[in-house]
Amino acid sequence: MEPLPRSVPACRDVPIPPVEDLSWRAYQGYDCYACGQPLTTGAVHAGWARGHAGAHVLDTEVWACP
Ligand SMILES: [Zn+2]
Repeated sequence: MEPLPRSVPACRDVPIPPVEDLSWRAYQGYDCYACGQPLTTGAVHAGWARGHAGAHVLDTEVWACP
């Protein structure tokens, strides 16, 4: 097996964007917030995307590829 290229950053290392920049699916936790791939098993909890609309807090947890 060849080693993985080191020049490609892991999705989990990508800075978490504000909620406004997430796709609907990423906001729901269905897709990786970094690359947009559908997540299956082993998704990595990346943290929280922050956002609000008026008085409503839209913060959501985001997930990345394993
Ligand atoms: Zn990804």
